[in-house]
Amino acid sequence: MKTKNATLVYISTIEKEIHPAIYGIKAYALKYIQDKNIQILTKSIRAKHSTQSSRYALYPSFSPQEVQKIGMSIVRQHPIYVGFSTYVWNVEATLLLAQYIKNLDPNITIILGGAEATYNAKKILSKEKCVDVVVLDEGELPFLDLIEGKKPIQTIQGIMYKNKGKIIHNPHRNILDLTTVPSSYLVGLIDLKKEKKSAFIIETSRGCPFKCAYCSYNINNYAKLRLFPVERVEKELAYLLRNKVNAIHVVDDNFNIYDLRAQRILKMFIKDNNNTHLELFIRADAWQISEQLGNLLANPYIHLTIGVQALKKETLKITQRIHKRHILEQNLYLLNQLKANYTLQFIIGLPGDTYKDIKNDINWAYSFHPQYIHLQTLRINPGTLFEREAHKFGITYEKKPPYVINKTYSMTAKDLKKSEELNIMFKLFYETGFLKKTINQLHLNLSLPISNIIEELILAGIKPVTLFMFDKKSLIFLIRNKIKKILLKNNQKKQWPLFEVLINTDII
Ligand code: SF4
Repeated sequence: MKTKNATLVYISTIEKEIHPAIYGIKAYALKYIQDKNIQILTKSIRAKHSTQSSRYALYPSFSPQEVQKIGMSIVRQHPIYVGFSTYVWNVEATLLLAQYIKNLDPNITIILGGAEATYNAKKILSKEKCVDVVVLDEGELPFLDLIEGKKPIQTIQGIMYKNKGKIIHNPHRNILDLTTVPSSYLVGLIDLKKEKKSAFIIETSRGCPFKCAYCSYNINNYAKLRLFPVERVEKELAYLLRNKVNAIHVVDDNFNIYDLRAQRILKMFIKDNNNTHLELFIRADAWQISEQLGNLLANPYIHLTIGVQALKKETLKITQRIHKRHILEQNLYLLNQLKANYTLQFIIGLPGDTYKDIKNDINWAYSFHPQYIHLQTLRINPGTLFEREAHKFGITYEKKPPYVINKTYSMTAKDLKKSEELNIMFKLFYETGFLKKTINQLHLNLSLPISNIIEELILAGIKPVTLFMFDKKSLIFLIRNKIKKILLKNNQKKQWPLFEVLINTDII
């Protein structure tokens, strides 16, 4: 009997990261498929970054020649189905490629899955002629049903599709039992030898019990937290560690929700580790981190990302973010005491926050001296509460990915721009060492908040976008003048000789 092909495609710009989405779908299909004449092919495409602006830094961009080359290579394999895994960052490039493939061979059924397609299903199906089916929520079972072709399409749960120009929304599926989902690593779908230098993503759970208004990882089948069996997680880790991969990223926003489970996984990682880096997201604002867990988290090979997002009560309430400040601070003191590596994350432009609140976030975060402090402008992702209630919070935003906001009821477009500028300048100082000693010393000697000093420098014209316009001599001249003025304003003229030396040695 003739083999039938189905191809799974994922487009990314991240050079050294293995995203398991399409391999997971393939692993599931291979395990349960009955028609062994169906062959599932995978194509992970690494595209160039978009050069539009920093907001689009992770967005793939294809030239017409590249679309043609990739599209032809897929069509040449004569697939009956081509399925794409979509996220906010790759949906536009995905649609370009899907359109090209459909033009070459209109008989190919184009399927889109993933977070971006799920919450935009109706819009995508009505706007994009090339898309035939959107898989909603978890893709494993609907994809299997579609490629097997045994069930009439109107009975396949968890999909939306086009039929004679009409959009049909079939009922959602029940959530998957994660004990039935095979690991794409353990069944050998990813060539670790070829990809050793990459970061490998592993799923330890799916879904989230929290309801943050900007997040789409808590909707439909993802509203409930489900855990992969700890034995499976340990086996995946052991496999990756045995193969000495460069880094492992754990996809789980609440890795530490079950303290003992987290400890068990980390003990195993630490015991078997041989120079692999582990990247984890943990919650530090909702519950206490035990000392035992803290000790494990403080391993030099582990880096933690801790989402704080906002500090102001009004903002946290609007955002529906659980936030216990005393617990958060206690956890950060513990992590600092144990010398853990971590990043604190914030969002610029959450409704309720003003420019002043962003300054306050930076000052507070700085007081803990984490390895990194990341602030990112709010995006209104499809399916989120903020998308549904944007009007209520005075939110206007770009209607295409990355859906970045333009303003909210509490932040004008001008304030947003100011906050972003402050963030970029702060990042430059904090991460690259630009004026680091000078700014730190001003902060300590004059007891000025760090954000005020950065703000003063920006007001003097010292901004990342203008830095390259100055030669070193003019830049030092400008900074010297500004620092002198700050000292004068604070009646600290006598400190000038100290700063004069610092500035000269501080410009990288
Ligand atoms: S932001 Fe994190 S904690 Fe909040 S709903 Fe999303 S995944 Fe859950």
